[in-house]
Order: sequence, then C-alpha cells, then structure tokens
Amino acid sequence: MHEVEHHEHGATLLFGIGELTTNVPGVAGADDPDDPTAVVRDAAILLDGDRVAWVGREADAAAGVEAAIGRAPDRTVDVGRRAVIPGFVDSHTHLVFAGDRAAEFEARAAGRPYTAGGIRTTVTATRAASDDALRAGLARHVAEAAAQGTTTLEIKSGYGLTVADEERSVRLAREVTDEVTFLGAHVVPPELQGREDEYVDLVCGEMLAACAPAARWVDVFCETGAFTPDQARRVLTAGAAAGLGVRVHANQLGPGDGVQLAVSLGAASVDHCTYLSDDDVAALASSWTSAVPGTGTVATLLPGVELSTRQPYPDARRLLDAGVVVALASDCNPGSSYTSSMPLMVALAVQETGMTVAEAVRAATAGGAAALRRSDVGRLSPGARADLVVLDAPSRTYLAYRPGVPLVSHVWKEGRELHPSR
Ligand SMILES: [Zn+2]
Repeated sequence: MHEVEHHEHGATLLFGIGELTTNVPGVAGADDPDDPTAVVRDAAILLDGDRVAWVGREADAAAGVEAAIGRAPDRTVDVGRRAVIPGFVDSHTHLVFAGDRAAEFEARAAGRPYTAGGIRTTVTATRAASDDALRAGLARHVAEAAAQGTTTLEIKSGYGLTVADEERSVRLAREVTDEVTFLGAHVVPPELQGREDEYVDLVCGEMLAACAPAARWVDVFCETGAFTPDQARRVLTAGAAAGLGVRVHANQLGPGDGVQLAVSLGAASVDHCTYLSDDDVAALASSWTSAVPGTGTVATLLPGVELSTRQPYPDARRLLDAGVVVALASDCNPGSSYTSSMPLMVALAVQETGMTVAEAVRAATAGGAAALRRSDVGRLSPGARADLVVLDAPSRTYLAYRPGVPLVSHVWKEGRELHPSR
C-alpha cells in the first residue's frame, strides 16, 4: 500500500538542477530559442505556496528570490545535478473499477485479439463492488501514479453503465481529481444488447443529468463494437449542452469518422489516433491554425494500449510534422493498458512512435495540459502550479534511455513534497 504525506507549505528553493525542462519558451535562463521545452541548465526554481514563484539559472537565484518574494526561502533543497521536469499530466485514465482482467490478458498473450467487448467483464465486477472497495482501488492507483510523477490525473467513468452506477463513478472520481469525465457511452451494457439507440437515449437523458454535476468532460467510445459516429455525435452534443467539455475515444482499432467528428465539435482531445487518414491528420492540424489560440483538438496517444494489445503503434511523427499538438497518456484501465506509468509512455513514444525525447516529455506534460485545456500545469514558470518531478538521472533522456527503471526520485505537487511509502 502507498500512503502519501505532506510537508509544510512555505517558500522552497530547489537548486543544483542539472537540466530543468520548463516548456515555456522565453523563460529566464533558457538559451535555445528554438527549443519548445525551454530547458534551463544549472538551474534553480522557487516554489511559494502552491505556485512557482521564480525560475532561472542558479547563479541568478539570490537576486531572483529577493525580487520574487522579498525574503529568504524557508527551505533550500540541493537536488544534486539531477534533471527536473514538470509533473506528468495524465489526461486519460479509467480508474473507477473493480476486479482485474489478468485471465483475458493471458488469453490475448496466447493469441486471441483484443475487442471492445471485454469491457463488460469489468462492468459486472464494478457494479457488484461497494463504494469503499471502489474508493480503495482509486486511492491505490492514484498513489501509484503519483509515485511515478503524475501530478494531474483525468479519470473517466464508464464501468457502471446504469444511471446509479455511472453517477457513483463520477462522484467517487471527483473525490480524488477535478478532471472527471462522464463516459456512460463506453459500451452498450449487456442488458441492452441490440437496443443501442435506447441506451444512447438513456446516456443523453437521465444518466447525463445525474452525472454532469460532478463531471467536467463528456467522452464516447466511437469505434466498431462500441458506438457509431451518429450515436457519438448525439452523446457529445448532449454533453456539451449540459456544459461539459468534449473528448472522444476514436480510431483505435481501425479507421473511422471519430477524429473528424471530434474536430467538428471542437473537442479538447481525440484519444488513440492509431488509424488516421490524411484527411484526419489535416483536420487535426487545421484545428490549431484556424481556431482561437489554445482551443484546437489535441491528438492524445496511448501507447500502453498498443504495448498491451499487440496492435500497431500510432505514428506520432506524422502528426507532429503536420503541426498537430500531441499528448501522451496512460489510458490506465484493467483491460487494454493496466499501467499508470507515464515514464513508460515516454519510453514507448520514443522507441515506437517516432517522437524525439524532447517531444515525448513535452507531450506527457504540456501536451496533457493542452488536452485538458489547462494552462496552470504541464509547465514550470512563475504562476504555474508547483508540480514537478526530480529524476534520479542527469537528463530527461534517461526516461527513454533506461526504460522500466524507476527514475522518479522526488515528486512535488502544489508546492509540497509527496512521500510515497511502500
Ligand atoms: Zn480509454
């Protein structure tokens, strides 16, 4: 079990940072104007309360701290020339569930293909679980993610699929994060097989009304075996009318109209993006040139799914070269990607999807923030939330260079150091 304790708040100066990734071009001390990750070498960072108060070169820290808070910091921490990055923003997880699907995984490892239908196994277990059992699972997975450097976490419902069970899922998720997504349209529940439109009516009506108060987002699984583009449009339009932001699961298992639908509805993100046409890529790219700045549709890649289901990886290079904003997320769920490790996502993105190290780290931090339309996380500059990860490595490159090795040595969230104890 993991327990998370907190230190006292106050102003803390972290110095001795060998390589600081800020994701803020133009930040003090960043010397390469062409580097969107805006690395500062031999850096220091001042955390004051839950915010970053100053960032720059260590040599400038005394003057910087004085200018920022007018006094000495309450605490100084020498990180010993290690690399520091913004806390990971995991913008796609399904953590409200009970049971596991190890047997299905084992069968898949023996050659059976992944289909969307396995979700129903988790639905049965989740409906049967008590609130406290679901809470315990959430707490365990949230702590597990935090220990690996995740400081912002989106959590979806979608294993209840009744009004009461979906309402319970978003309510429990809301106890651990502000980024809650209503995914009643995950699959059609077993009791309504063959009555898909009847279920969509329920999702758009009574279920949405019950779930919207605790949710920030609405999502739909637009895929063969789940929901058609017309059904997905109904769900997303109803969610938007209820005040929820739009995100979509699409183009995971094959080509389809989900990406175009997401862009046409101004979705914050379309997730998976494994099978894309040239028109899909162009639509995603144009969402970033024609829209109000910061309101395009992010392509969120979930390479833990391809790892776990032996599917072809998405082509991040193609998206990045077209000018699409890309995020990386874990899709942590018991069926298709039972990992909460954002360091693993960075390693997979570099090895399997064509990203550079800088692009992958940016996608796992600033990219996730863009996918949640958040400007306060995923970056380290004055005013940002004081969420950061100290790596037990001299550079962020080690996240991909040493895959599978636990390199997250210290995590700070909202200005406090987390102390996961195992
Ligand atoms: Zn998902």
